[in-house]
Amino acid sequence: MTLTDGTVVTYPAGAVSSRGTVVHVADAGEGRWAVVLDETAFHPVDTAWPDQPADRGMLRVGDAELSVIDAVVGATQGDGLLLGPDVPVRTGTDGWTFVVAHIVESGAGVAVGDTVDVTVDAAYRAALSAGHTACHLASLAFDAALAGAWRKEVQTDALGAPAFDALAIQESRILPDGSRDVYRIGKSLRRKGFDPAALDDLDALAARVDAQLAEWIAAGGAVRIERDGEALADRRAWVCELPGAEARIPCGGTHVASLHELVAATVSFEAAPMDGGLELVMTTTAERV
Ligand SMILES: [Zn+2]
Repeated sequence: MTLTDGTVVTYPAGAVSSRGTVVHVADAGEGRWAVVLDETAFHPVDTAWPDQPADRGMLRVGDAELSVIDAVVGATQGDGLLLGPDVPVRTGTDGWTFVVAHIVESGAGVAVGDTVDVTVDAAYRAALSAGHTACHLASLAFDAALAGAWRKEVQTDALGAPAFDALAIQESRILPDGSRDVYRIGKSLRRKGFDPAALDDLDALAARVDAQLAEWIAAGGAVRIERDGEALADRRAWVCELPGAEARIPCGGTHVASLHELVAATVSFEAAPMDGGLELVMTTTAERV
């Protein structure tokens, strides 16, 4: 295996440990090193859509234990390795190879060909997985609650409702047991037919979203990740069984295996005026069994 084979990732199936072989070690600047393995269970933060943060954990190389201080996507066209913010293209872009770069404080003693045991902080991962599943459910419940606010036909979400989330989202961050999504409601959304008056009573809106979330979680549907292949760059989707429907959303993150793992998920909203409209923050909180 070499750098241009890309990294096989096992976290979509829920792995929190793995064994791999070092295929590349690069200077990551500021005294840090990037270690690339042929295979890893370590989830890196994506560059273009950094919603789920990197896992925490360590690499064991022989007798040495190296704390992983960050994990980013690396990309190459065969000559050199670009890391994180320096990657100029979206993960999966043709003509590039994508790898997981484990960032460590010192690369001393790590060489191409070494065997590395990867250990992910399983408790932190589980909290992020719960937060990420709750984030997707909340976005669908929010779209459903706003379905009546559209005066024109627009693209629809995984359940067939007008896709407010996809059309208005600016930033999404997965947190341990929750998420924070930022939406902008401005001129372009109004031009697409969205009536901002639907956001006048945010407490009532949150209550409707919470009621939908409670119904879905009580049904305890299975959750799985479908993928086109095992490489970091292969397309993946979150698939969740909901009463009467199966929701499918493109997603590179990690998730619970069943909604039975959640007790509840609830949302709260905060709105602030912005130039020409409104910025709305939806905070989702998940409670695990
Ligand atoms: Zn996702």
